[in-house]
Amino acid sequence: MLELGETDLVLDGGQSAETARQSSSQAASSSVVPSPQRAAADHTAAPVRAQPKAAAPAAPLPPGLSVEAPSGGDDLFAADPLRACTTLDALVPVIDACRKCQLGHSRLHSVPGEGDPKAGLVVVGEAPGATEDETGRPFVGRAGKLLDDILKAIGFRREDVFICNVLKCRPPENRDPEPLEVAACSPYLHRQLELIAPRVILAMGRPAAHALLGVNLSLGEMRGKLHRYRGIPLIVTYHPAALLRNPHWKRPTWDDIRIARRIYDGDSA
Ligand code: URA
Repeated sequence: MLELGETDLVLDGGQSAETARQSSSQAASSSVVPSPQRAAADHTAAPVRAQPKAAAPAAPLPPGLSVEAPSGGDDLFAADPLRACTTLDALVPVIDACRKCQLGHSRLHSVPGEGDPKAGLVVVGEAPGATEDETGRPFVGRAGKLLDDILKAIGFRREDVFICNVLKCRPPENRDPEPLEVAACSPYLHRQLELIAPRVILAMGRPAAHALLGVNLSLGEMRGKLHRYRGIPLIVTYHPAALLRNPHWKRPTWDDIRIARRIYDGDSA
């Protein structure tokens, strides 16, 4: 049994059980449904005919985002190109063709991710850097070498796991991902995780943890806890690039990844 404390409170999408309860009770209390008795008591009142509402003008979309009309029948989801991708390989050309944000125009190569499509462990980083942009492969620069060592320390080779990022395209000068870029790109990550259905997810760095858990907490607040992403155990640890800058964080990273390994091995989570 993992002793992580009473921390497993993050629900899918980062909404806590309490918030979910509150919003559903608010929704219930704010809806007014006329009862037959009230309708009968009101029979003297002049009938009020519902006025057709003028359609509200559509709010302008933020630059870089597009909304397309569904095609191909009545099924709204039939138009979702990601649902049509039933393998990780099928996602690759879709990601490569993506121009939903500006990064699709500035990058050299998209970096969808690589590894075992049936991996029990998925490692999620932030975004490709320069070497990844040149090669189209995730974590192959200096941080990638360190990630290889981290994985080796818990008995994995790169090819045993699946490695990917929140963003599939490199932000210029390795700047932080912008919220709109994360919003545009994270459906690819969600679909990858849905197709792989790993036993455990290792989120490396704040952006990966934020994108997956939908919370805006510091790394310190998220480390040392067992989170869940759509029911899958998720461990948060330092990003390898942060470890290159601050080797003192290697020790706590080691603690985190051993927990991930224990969950992978079937220790109750
Ligand atoms: N940093 C990341 O987050 N991902 C990579 O692929 C490389 C560096």
